[in-house]
Amino acid sequence: MPSPRFEISEIPVSPDHFIGGARVSSTATFEVRSPLDWDWKLGEMARGDALTADAAVTSAVAAFEGWAGLEPKERAQYLHRLADLIDENIDALATVECADMAMLLESLQARVIHRGAENFRSYADLAAGYQGRTWSSKGTDNQVIRMPAGPAVIITPWNAPWLLSTWKLAPALAAGNPVILKPAEWSPLSASMLADLASDADLPPGVLNIVHGFGDEVGAALVADKRVRRISFTGSPETARHIGVAAARNITPFTAELGGKGPLVVFADSDLEAAAKKAAGQFDDSGQVCLAGTRLLVEASVSAEFLEMFHRFTDAHVLGDSRDPRTTISPMIHPDHLARVAGFVDRARDHGDRIVRGGERWKQDGLWYEPTLIEPVANDSEVVQREVFGPVLTYQTFEDETEAIELANSTDYGLSGIVYTGSEERATRVGSAIIAGTVWVNTFLVRDLTAPFGGCGISGIGREGGDYALDFHSDLKTLQISQGSVC
Ligand code: NAD
Repeated sequence: MPSPRFEISEIPVSPDHFIGGARVSSTATFEVRSPLDWDWKLGEMARGDALTADAAVTSAVAAFEGWAGLEPKERAQYLHRLADLIDENIDALATVECADMAMLLESLQARVIHRGAENFRSYADLAAGYQGRTWSSKGTDNQVIRMPAGPAVIITPWNAPWLLSTWKLAPALAAGNPVILKPAEWSPLSASMLADLASDADLPPGVLNIVHGFGDEVGAALVADKRVRRISFTGSPETARHIGVAAARNITPFTAELGGKGPLVVFADSDLEAAAKKAAGQFDDSGQVCLAGTRLLVEASVSAEFLEMFHRFTDAHVLGDSRDPRTTISPMIHPDHLARVAGFVDRARDHGDRIVRGGERWKQDGLWYEPTLIEPVANDSEVVQREVFGPVLTYQTFEDETEAIELANSTDYGLSGIVYTGSEERATRVGSAIIAGTVWVNTFLVRDLTAPFGGCGISGIGREGGDYALDFHSDLKTLQISQGSVC
């Protein structure tokens, strides 16, 4: 029996799982609260368990033959319909996502929700337009064919639930795999709304399944199921290790997009004003961004000038309610996460790292943390080496390019890097030398959906984006046909 929907600003949201095209409840539930006001209880979501996971995988298995048997362009029609419905519901989705995880309402309305629609459109078209490599060799005509791999499990974190869910669902579905999505327990609501849109888009039952609940309960059961043929995970390295073990048991390929500790390297020859503004921009979304350049590395000769500008731009930030268009820094997702971030800063202080600015909660009755800059006593300080995932940046200087690269590559992470320089040669040289899945020079967060995306080191395994994601969700086959002789 489905449970009654609850409403957020008059927008109905289902608390239930979505399995085999129907809403399914659980006896157990978990509470979802709004980071905008922790007293605001948004609803009680169904709390899935091993039985829920089993039902969802069974439903995906049943849907596999039909969905995989469609031509990519037939699947594309469904995904385009879903994309159109997303665009028609931008305001409702943005309102709920904002209440659920506190991303700024204006950016959700203007960009983020629409980007979800674009994810579905671009992967639908890319899969439909696929021309497998063909060539002749040794008396045979060869062709690479993509075969849908089978049911895929997608597990997402709380920090950009809509963006990441749609980014990961689109290639799996376009490639012909039915999917089970488990959104994070701290921000599950936009995924629940996506299930309604999938119904309205007439997606065949079982092609998109969504289960709610905790990672060590329903999440662990999903990734341990041997009928699952792909696992696509975004989250922390700690969880990836658990999932990797489960995937290894069943020889299930998995990709992992994990945390980051990106350097933001500023050379003296750069447009310092632009660099300082971008550095202060790393506090956006309260720093809960895996790709953020959280380690500011600045050429010593321009340090004072850079810092003056950085402070000016940081002073201009407005902490506040994410629904207020003047706000630039939202509250953090959850009291536990706020405490985790504060713990990093407290330990840094105790360790002798210098708190240059911030370092405290902003107001005691909300989930904001002040934009914080820390000058570490040494490069091996915890706050330099571990992902904080909050509005906390570190500040170090370097003397020359060699030292800049050395510092940039001095953590176990390798998700992203940002470089500011006025020299084209240096842009290529330093951009190439930084060990990371993505490096931006004189810009940040601009992305082409067809580009490979992923991390080096403990920032991840595998690549998503464009054909890379479609290949991951397929079993590639080489078809070889003799050109003449039969033997
Ligand atoms: P997390 O690893 O705690 O949880 C992520 C998801 O995994 C959640 O849905 C959780 O329920 C689930 N999970 C937990 N244990 C599980 C288990 N044993 N089996 C299966 N599923 C399990 O991460 P988080 O705190 O939600 O997210 C923050 C992390 O995500 C940060 O490290 C951040 O950098 C990273 N992140 C990375 C990217 C990227 O693209 N590289 C993007 C966003 C966030």
